[in-house]
Amino acid sequence: MSVRTAAMRALIPAFALAGVSLSTVLPTDDERESADYQTVLIFRNDDLEPGHADELRREIDQIFIDEGVPLTNAPIPIQNEEEPITDDEEFCEELREQYEEHPDIFEYSLHGYYHTPSTDQFYVGDGGFSSGEQSEFGGLPYDQQRSRIEEGRRILEECTGATTHSFVPPFAPYDDATVQALAEEGITIVSSDNWFTRVYFGETDLFETYGVLHVPANNDFVSDWETHEFHDQSYLREAFDEAYENGELYMQTLHYWTFTSDERLDELRSFIDYVKDQDGVLMMTIEAFADAYREERLVQTNDGWTYTPPDDDDELAVYSTGALDESSEGSDDETNWLDSVISAGRRIVDQ
Ligand SMILES: [Zn+2]
Repeated sequence: MSVRTAAMRALIPAFALAGVSLSTVLPTDDERESADYQTVLIFRNDDLEPGHADELRREIDQIFIDEGVPLTNAPIPIQNEEEPITDDEEFCEELREQYEEHPDIFEYSLHGYYHTPSTDQFYVGDGGFSSGEQSEFGGLPYDQQRSRIEEGRRILEECTGATTHSFVPPFAPYDDATVQALAEEGITIVSSDNWFTRVYFGETDLFETYGVLHVPANNDFVSDWETHEFHDQSYLREAFDEAYENGELYMQTLHYWTFTSDERLDELRSFIDYVKDQDGVLMMTIEAFADAYREERLVQTNDGWTYTPPDDDDELAVYSTGALDESSEGSDDETNWLDSVISAGRRIVDQ
């Protein structure tokens, strides 16, 4: 029995005796008003590991704390094929403290195992084998994938103190066996890139297989992985604008260690500010997104999204730039969900 169910059962006799209707006491659907949004944006930051650009990792995290915007961090559980990240107590303590202090900002996703390619001949669609596509998981036998996921997750959770429900495959490729292994391990979200899901699964948007929700990313800040050159700011803004206009989910990935100059860090701040200037944007972690989507509190409509916050939004990793129809619904209404978000002391909503 969940804590909530137990509490409700404990309440029933007392209220029944007092002649009070339960519906007047417990939260009703009316108190959790839904509102319309144009798009949902997820920021995902890959490759966290100790001793690799630690200062940049802290700077990126601080930007998201300062902006109040949720960030899904994806650490690699094992370094150099033999050193679990739990060996570095300072690193794990930082991640743990940060999560405890800002559960409304951070979440941790499992980023592979060693993050080294097991194959560079991974099958990517009808074209057959593509020699260019490295994969750490795709192509490996199921049992091996499953034990890597189990062990990787154990290390990550021991390090961060947070439960992990999502997986980010290194280099992007993965296969059906990966998804089955994730499902067996209770990891219900996989986040790759849409260039890969397009060729392997024939999908670029959200889809589900074996009960696992695939949430592919759209773009990284880096345009060229040889030189680590960044996209023009206008390129990323246009990509976001397109998702915004089409009412699609947009996932922006970043690799913290590529933000090697103040100028690059400013580009990140400036992209976040650009998004914040648009009405009707929800920014969420991957898990906050998947939970809401599965519970049908977040529903994709013809031209955007309808979102209803959960009963208990104390630690909700969601930032809203303001619902689209906020003014027509009356922001003075005490039951407006945005007010409840504000009263929870979590967000300042730009009006
Ligand atoms: Zn990576």
